[in-house]
Amino acid sequence: MIIENDEDFALSGAIKKMEDKNMGYRFANVDNRAVLVVGDDYYDIHKISNGALASDPMLALEMSGELKQLSDRLSSNLEEITVTGNINDVTLCPPVARPRNAFAVGLNYRNHAKEAGMAIPPAPMVFTKFPSCITGPTGVVEMRSDYVDFEGELVAVIGKTAKNVTADNALEYVAGLCIGQDISDRAAQFTSQPPQFNLGKSFDTFGPIGPYLVSLDSIADDNKLMLTTLVNGEIRQKDSAKDLIFDIPFLVSYLSQILTLQCGDIIFTGTPGGVGGPEGLFLKDGDVIETSIEGLGSMKNRCVRISDHSRALEVPEFIQTFIDNRKI
Ligand code: ZN
Repeated sequence: MIIENDEDFALSGAIKKMEDKNMGYRFANVDNRAVLVVGDDYYDIHKISNGALASDPMLALEMSGELKQLSDRLSSNLEEITVTGNINDVTLCPPVARPRNAFAVGLNYRNHAKEAGMAIPPAPMVFTKFPSCITGPTGVVEMRSDYVDFEGELVAVIGKTAKNVTADNALEYVAGLCIGQDISDRAAQFTSQPPQFNLGKSFDTFGPIGPYLVSLDSIADDNKLMLTTLVNGEIRQKDSAKDLIFDIPFLVSYLSQILTLQCGDIIFTGTPGGVGGPEGLFLKDGDVIETSIEGLGSMKNRCVRISDHSRALEVPEFIQTFIDNRKI
């Protein structure tokens, strides 16, 4: 498939070069059991592999070769294999339930760096979302101040150990992609200078991911990975991964030169423009965030304002400026 005027879109370009193209798979987590999803049906991986693959999603992910074979067998024998259930009847858990590391990249879209009033970094600005914040695609977002914000993001999932890999080979180490919300408490994030990105973005429930892990080979060459975030049905973010400053191959290569990436590590690749903070608009109790990415599905997360954290009432000057600008 031809991609017009897209030489700069390294993700598609690199997928296009991969010769071993087939159907790929959608991998999900139902009640902490690994499943493959076809249409709206899901198939328990442990059952349909006659016990050959682990039921634990983290362990199943490590058997990428077998997973691929199982998925190929499933798609060519669909009629003969008993469906385990329908995804609409269950609550999906995060496809990567217990990532060892959850990296995130700040200011990785030009329009977001601009709206935040920050310079484009010369190298990826990487921080941690502590893995304990990871929840599923329908998880509730528990807010502890009035300054909580959304950040819809494309998330890359590492499929095998990567150390010192080049950008040219980096996608061989990526199992697939999913959607993520890098929920951020701006009051905690900007409590001090330098800011507290790690803590401000790692409150319990601040890392919804899902709904599936979609393997790279199932993403069409011409998919622009258009990301959309709606809050209460209103479009707030709409941008393509084409606009990433540091793309996935670059990020995987860059991180792997510093530390060894392992299967199940995840990378939130950054958010495009349109987040609430710069407009002085924050999430409120009862708000519903719906995040979609072309070809990856969508997630719906409801916000609940539960209590105040210790800095909840100390509004950082940086945030106050945005709020004041809004009132003008
Ligand atoms: Zn982010």
